[in-house]
Amino acid sequence: MDELKSIIRDIHDFPKKGIVFKDITTLLQDAKSYHRMIDLLSHHYIGKHVDKVIGVEARGFIIGSALAYKLGAGIVLVRKPGKLPSETFSKTYALEYGTDTLEIHKDAIKPGERILIADDLLATGGTMAAVVDLVQSMGGELVDCCFMAELEFLEGRKRLPEGKVFSLLKF
Ligand code: 5GP
Repeated sequence: MDELKSIIRDIHDFPKKGIVFKDITTLLQDAKSYHRMIDLLSHHYIGKHVDKVIGVEARGFIIGSALAYKLGAGIVLVRKPGKLPSETFSKTYALEYGTDTLEIHKDAIKPGERILIADDLLATGGTMAAVVDLVQSMGGELVDCCFMAELEFLEGRKRLPEGKVFSLLKF
């Protein structure tokens, strides 16, 4: 795991001054690391029935679609406003300054379907909490929130359902 962690690079002052951004592109572009990361994440869910994986725009699409393929599940996109072509449900959530909104197609989840949500990184948990809200309000059954990486010091998992969070690489 330390080997995978070491490939993720820190970018200082991105996207704004004072923030140290974990850049995962270095891991994704390395064939061995990318395959290992997807294998490890998907092995965590072997034997657990998953109907659909949600990928959260945009890096969550990369993790989510590979996971969905491995698990034999469908892939659902949660996107920023105005990107999905059909009717949507939306959820607005608070950021440090201002708000953000995420959307999902109204017919993407049917009541009782077992849903795994995937994103690249868990920071404060606001993004994932919004997606969990969407899933639950549509009657989906949450299997887990799955991340490639987690910034543990931000304690984002406290905002998510207990026992429903898995991250591979902890910083
Ligand atoms: P949160 O809502 O948990 O504070 O932020 C998580 C969301 O912001 C995720 O969708 C993630 O892609 C993005 N994010 C926040 N900080 C970072 C970071 O340092 N690196 C990467 N790759 N994504 C981040």
